[in-house]
Amino acid sequence: MNHRYYRQQLSALHDGELSSDEESVMKDHLVRCEECAALLKTWRLIGSGVRSLEEIQLPAGFSRRVLETVREDEEETSFWMPVEALARKTVFGLSLAVIVLVAFLLATEPQQPVIMESYLSGEVPEGNTPVSLLQRESISKNDILLAVAQK
Ligand SMILES: [Zn+2]
Repeated sequence: MNHRYYRQQLSALHDGELSSDEESVMKDHLVRCEECAALLKTWRLIGSGVRSLEEIQLPAGFSRRVLETVREDEEETSFWMPVEALARKTVFGLSLAVIVLVAFLLATEPQQPVIMESYLSGEVPEGNTPVSLLQRESISKNDILLAVAQK
């Protein structure tokens, strides 16, 4: 058994909720573990201190006000739940759109620009001209010369 188990059992020991077997296992551990023994001692001191306090009379309506406050908090939370859910979905959707856009832009690399010298000297690579010219944003003087040269 690990130390975490003993820590969980310590509370049950303090409250007198352990079987006799479990209690003897815990007492064996407390002999060997100063940390748990000190914690149990602290809990016992706090318990006896609380029991020695005199009872106080709560103001009238105290329980009702506590319940009202809890309900108000719950209503406020339930009011914002749909808004929060919508915000989460929106952020998720926008993130997905950005990822798709970046992936698309990375997948479609721009093609190499048309090198005019090879066209003008008659060394035109096949199948490259129409695609490259259509992807340009404006027509240059060299494009016009190329069109004339190909006629
Ligand atoms: Zn321990």
